Amino acid sequence: MSLQDFYTITDQLEDLQRATLHGVGEPLLNPELAAMVRHLKKRNVYTLFNSNGILLDHKRQHELIDSGLDELRISLDAASAAGYKKIRNSLLFDRIVGNLRAFRSLQDAQSLTRPKLSLWFLGTKDNISELPEFVNLAADLGVGGVYLQRLVYYQDDDGYGVAREDKSLQDTDDQSRELIQTSQKLAEDHDLRFNASGRCRPVESLHSDTAKEMPWSRCIRPRTLIYITANGNVLPCCIAPFATVDYASIVLGNVFESSLMDIWLGKRYKKFRHQLQTAGPPTCCQGCGVLWSL
Ligand code: SF4
Repeated sequence: MSLQDFYTITDQLEDLQRATLHGVGEPLLNPELAAMVRHLKKRNVYTLFNSNGILLDHKRQHELIDSGLDELRISLDAASAAGYKKIRNSLLFDRIVGNLRAFRSLQDAQSLTRPKLSLWFLGTKDNISELPEFVNLAADLGVGGVYLQRLVYYQDDDGYGVAREDKSLQDTDDQSRELIQTSQKLAEDHDLRFNASGRCRPVESLHSDTAKEMPWSRCIRPRTLIYITANGNVLPCCIAPFATVDYASIVLGNVFESSLMDIWLGKRYKKFRHQLQTAGPPTCCQGCGVLWSL
């Protein structure tokens, strides 16, 4: 997304309080990222993004600190080079850890507490055994928090890569639950935050919510936030693109064709919000609270 397009969008959001500058893709690939953060921070908008940390070199570290970024989340998913190769098919684990160590040193040298750093772990059957060591790694790096992220996968197709039902930890075995409890205890010992993504605690995040009727109907995202892709498509949330292969069904408008207000109040958004409160929600929502936590 160009800086001009970014201004076109954010200028329509006078009361914007929080901006998350990631979606499907790597934010550090955008050369204008620091300028976008600066623009938001001038307006006092809380600003964060997730990154794989591969491009977090010396120059980007300085740029991000100077931009005023509030929070930087590193999606790592492994505690070792071998684990990273397995889950990400990449040999760059050591480079990322080196980038994080350098970033923390830079912050310590200037007694900086921003951006807040956290490590993110997408939990699957393939990598959950590394979670306790992942917590230790976060402590060793001086990172303030660890997040266990739920696995979302297409329900209307075979899935993609490791994003498949057979890799999910939902309603998982005792061993995985114990690993998460051990990690929780380790985090407490290290004085680290340990959270799940979404609206619950890590162990709870693995339980289906099927005791409650229509668990997806508790989702407040289509009423409280807006997700805009680099090419302007407006989606109901960040989960939707990973939950259905029917991409057209989740596009509620395009910000380069209509105003955000017209899209927000438009027919497609209204229909989506209405369906979410029924027993027949949009396809992308059918797994929320059932196949993964909300
Ligand atoms: S896909 Fe899930 S998170 Fe997204 S709007 Fe539907 S219920 Fe909410």
